[in-house]
Amino acid sequence: MSYEHLLVAVDLTEECDPVIKRAMKLAEPTGAKVSLVHIVEPMAMAFGGDVPMDLSQLQQQQFDQAKERMDRLFNKYPGIQRGDSHLKYGQPRQEIHALATEQQCDLIVVGSHGRHGLALLLGSTANDVLHGAPCDVLAVRLQKKD
Ligand code: AMP
Repeated sequence: MSYEHLLVAVDLTEECDPVIKRAMKLAEPTGAKVSLVHIVEPMAMAFGGDVPMDLSQLQQQQFDQAKERMDRLFNKYPGIQRGDSHLKYGQPRQEIHALATEQQCDLIVVGSHGRHGLALLLGSTANDVLHGAPCDVLAVRLQKKD
């Protein structure tokens, strides 16, 4: 059984390249569709939800920057259609799961740092996405940068 629709979660750093490349390689032989998703996390969430200032302008800048970076990915990977990209606000796990269900994806692809020690205890996006996922999840091992 081959996958038909892959959803690649991208953090928009240079680390998303190996994740996208792996997904495209996997999709190539069967012509499976590849979609990208990036989640812009609400700033208030990062500051613990209680910030005594208006973050809307900063949040808009963050969103615009993400859109620009996403556009760069389309130029770099012409096999991925612009219509198959999704920029969402929220919490990565929740939004990725919801989108995978909505778009009937059968594989979510994420990068994984294979953390150890304290970082492992704190968890990672890959770990988070795996739990309760509505479909299979592929964690692409990312090289450690020492
Ligand atoms: P992290 O655990 O945050 O180092 O991220 C590992 C992987 O999770 C990345 O390679 C992406 O596949 C995914 N990821 C992290 N942050 C986001 C985000 N904001 N939006 C979409 N995917 C993300």
